[in-house]
Amino acid sequence: MNRILLPALAVLLLVTGCVTAPKNTLMQVSTIDALLAGAYDGQMTLDELKEHGDLGIGTFDALEGEMIVIDGKVYQARTDGAVYEMPDQATTPFADVVHFDADHTELLCGPLSAEDLQEKIDQLKPNRNLFLAFRIDGTFSSMKVRSVPKQEKPYPPLADVVKHQAVFEYKDIQGTVLGFRSPAFVKGIGVPGYHLHFISKDRTTGGHVLGLCLNDAILQADTCNDFFLTLTDRDEFGTLDLSKDRSHELEKVEK
Ligand SMILES: [Zn+2]
Repeated sequence: MNRILLPALAVLLLVTGCVTAPKNTLMQVSTIDALLAGAYDGQMTLDELKEHGDLGIGTFDALEGEMIVIDGKVYQARTDGAVYEMPDQATTPFADVVHFDADHTELLCGPLSAEDLQEKIDQLKPNRNLFLAFRIDGTFSSMKVRSVPKQEKPYPPLADVVKHQAVFEYKDIQGTVLGFRSPAFVKGIGVPGYHLHFISKDRTTGGHVLGLCLNDAILQADTCNDFFLTLTDRDEFGTLDLSKDRSHELEKVEK
């Protein structure tokens, strides 16, 4: 090809839309219905999980605590209310991660409840049929989080475990709320709508968000066009009955 044609071809590619922004991939380990049914055995090491993303949420082997992945580090919020950075060889039975690359940044001024915050994000990012990853760094006049205790086999269903969840409430705390908004069509695979976890700025506390009041914060959001689901071939997963509708159980577990 000659020297005149090459630049012309590049321009043509740009105008026809062949050159697009990179698509971020949300990578998920297992399905939410498998977790609801008690599939708590770790199936991916954190080492491998971190290859798929630097921001995310999930849980750990035997359902021991809530997972917060932030800035490439994996933290475990335990039922003692404290947060621990986890070693690479630890494993997860369920997690969602993304290589976070914000395509939208917005200053948020409170007071905003969790519901207000979700409405605000919906206004800023109205396409609810794509996945959205986000982190919200700021100050919160109140933050209510929970964690779940490590389970013994035979594992009880998640809806029974959360009856014994540990709940913590903090006032005037700095930190990061992070998580995902997933499309309605992921029902059974993921959590439709919002799923938020929190970690304090000093990385001493956190958990699954039950309620909050946001004062001032910076929202960073990242639209994800691609979804990658990884499943295990172990019997624990293969013998589960995943045919029933567990949305009622999910409702109990999330709130
Ligand atoms: Zn959670």
